[in-house]
Amino acid sequence: MDIPRIFNITESAHRIHNPFTPEKLATLGAALRLESGTRVLDLGSGSGEMLCTWARDHGVIGTGVDMSQSFTEQAILRAETLGVADQVRFVHGDAAGYVSDEKVSVAACVGATWIGGGVAGTIALLARSLRPGGIILIGEPYWRQPPPTEDVAKGCLANSISDFLMLPELLALLGHLGYDVVEMVLADQDSWDRYEAAKWLTMRRWLEANPDDEFATEIRSALSSEPVRYATYTREYLGWGVFALMER
Ligand code: SAH
Repeated sequence: MDIPRIFNITESAHRIHNPFTPEKLATLGAALRLESGTRVLDLGSGSGEMLCTWARDHGVIGTGVDMSQSFTEQAILRAETLGVADQVRFVHGDAAGYVSDEKVSVAACVGATWIGGGVAGTIALLARSLRPGGIILIGEPYWRQPPPTEDVAKGCLANSISDFLMLPELLALLGHLGYDVVEMVLADQDSWDRYEAAKWLTMRRWLEANPDDEFATEIRSALSSEPVRYATYTREYLGWGVFALMER
C-alpha cells in the first residue's frame, strides 16, 4: 500500500508537504495555545513535521497516520532527531475511516481531505476521535481569485472550478457544518514557492541520479513544464490555509 510514486519522488526532500513554511507551522502551533500533554491525531501526517515540532515546542503527544511508506519512515527519523520519539508515533496505513482508541484534543487533516471524501466527510471522521471541546484542524485549498475559465482551474491541477471555494465561502461552509472557525493561518505566495519550487531541485537531482529509471521521462517532462505552469496558474489563483474549528 502506498501513494503514487511521483509524490514520493518529487516531495522526497520536503519536510512539509504543503504550501507552509516552518515559520507558518510554528505560528499555527502558537496560535492554538497548545498545552503540554495535549493529545493530537494527524491523518495524512506526511513526514511528521507538525507533530514532531509541536512535540518539541509545546510538549504535545500523539499519532500520525500516513499512506506513504517513505514519508512515514522520514517522520520516525525526524522524531528521533528532535528527541520526541517517546511522544509521537507514526503509523503507515490508510487513514480513511481511522478513529483513535483514545479521544484527542486536536484532530487534524492538513492537506489530505480526500481521506474523508472532502471537507465535510473529513470533519465528520475527525470528530469521531475528538474529545468534547476539542479542536479540529483542516488544511484546504481555496481560490485566491476566481479562475476565469475551467482551463485555468485545470492549470491549477484542479478537476474543475467547483473543486474549491473562495475563502469567505469556505469559512461560511465550515460554519454551516456546525463549527466555529476559531483560528486560521494562511499560505502566501512565498510559502507556496517553498512547496512547489522545492520540487524542482529535487526532480533535477533525482534525474541526475536515476537517468534510466522508468519514471525518468515523466520527471523530465514535469521539470521542464512545472515552473511556468505553477507561475501561470497555481501561484496566482490558488490559496491554501489551515482552519481550526470547534463545534458550536
Ligand atoms: N499533512 C502533511 C502531509 C500533507 S500531503 C503535511 O502537511 O506535511 C498529503 C499526505 O496524505 C501525504 O503524505 C500522503 O502520503 C497522505 N495520504 C494520501 N492518501 C492517504 C490515505 N488514504 N491515508 C493516509 N494518508 C494518505
